[in-house]
Amino acid sequence: MASIKKVAVTGGSGQIAYSLLFRIANGDLFGKEQQIDLRICDLPEMTDALEGLAMELADCAFPLLHKVTIGHNLSEMFDDIELALLVGAKPRTKGMERGDLLQENGKIFVGTGRALNEAARKDAKIIVVGNPCNTNCLITMHHAPKLLRKNFHAMTRLDQNRAAALLATKANVPVESVRKLSIWGNHSATQVPDYTQVEIGTKRAVDLIQDQHWLQQEFISQVQGRGAEIIAKRGKSSAASAASSLIDATRALYETTREGDWYSSAVCTDDNPYGIEEDLIFSFPLRTDKKGNYEIVKGLEWDFFIKERIAVTQRELLEEKSHIAHLLKG
Ligand code: NAD
Repeated sequence: MASIKKVAVTGGSGQIAYSLLFRIANGDLFGKEQQIDLRICDLPEMTDALEGLAMELADCAFPLLHKVTIGHNLSEMFDDIELALLVGAKPRTKGMERGDLLQENGKIFVGTGRALNEAARKDAKIIVVGNPCNTNCLITMHHAPKLLRKNFHAMTRLDQNRAAALLATKANVPVESVRKLSIWGNHSATQVPDYTQVEIGTKRAVDLIQDQHWLQQEFISQVQGRGAEIIAKRGKSSAASAASSLIDATRALYETTREGDWYSSAVCTDDNPYGIEEDLIFSFPLRTDKKGNYEIVKGLEWDFFIKERIAVTQRELLEEKSHIAHLLKG
């Protein structure tokens, strides 16, 4: 049996974690043979909630759950971890500007980055979910210089999954036949769900769907606005779908990508092949090879429509970075 995997999850008492942790413990992340040492982190005032959660995990008698630790001291909780799923963040409250959210949550990720730098393995993989996740990821990466910059991700897999489901419904095909779907840029309303390269079965999506207006207008705006739509209906933000997408996003980094496909994740722009400004966390199409290393898919062409939108999402990320520039230092 493989050695026990040490995995940390922040925001452990939140609604995404409540779905995520049971899936991890059940073997959905690393398979049914892999024992897990799970570190569940949250704020000190959430200790009771974490204790209740740990009791529930124990009551499931998951055979793969070797150990569960709860706590708020991140340097202790991140000791020797190889994977951190950073879900914890303050929710946006009524009347709060995006800039305020950036400041408030940015501060959390300074401390998180420092704790990772102190305690995690140098080759640990980090996936940031707490919003605004791209910029939070940038802050974390800056404060964890001992870790590999390549291993920092912000999650855009939920956007990819939403986009794939919409295209599959429109084309009336099973969702797994949708391939080569890229999400470019920021996990925000400026993200670019790129249908232009998508293949559905043996056909190009644009040829199969033959509705340019729907693809350019409705499809893109439905993906961009799906989170808000769910809040309006459910009264709470998407949680189970975010947790499920985080499982997919993590597995994609460890498993060889299937032939003729790719997946999306926001990664560091250093040396990227698309001329995006360096030192940003920007969503690209990626492929993972047999050794578990990913590469940005090269050579994709952007038509004018996609290019314009990618410029907008890049500009938004640069603005976010300028808002939190003081948090990147020291
Ligand atoms: P939630 O409010 O239910 O849980 C958030 C958790 O974070 C809570 O347990 C809270 O105690 C903790 N937290 C709050 N302030 C903290 C701090 N200063 N330090 C550490 N932890 C803190 O929220 P949720 O629904 O679980 O969502 C979590 C985050 O994920 C939110 O930021 C949400 O916007 C984001 N999200 C991202 C995606 C994506 O696709 N990237 C999708 C859905 C949600």
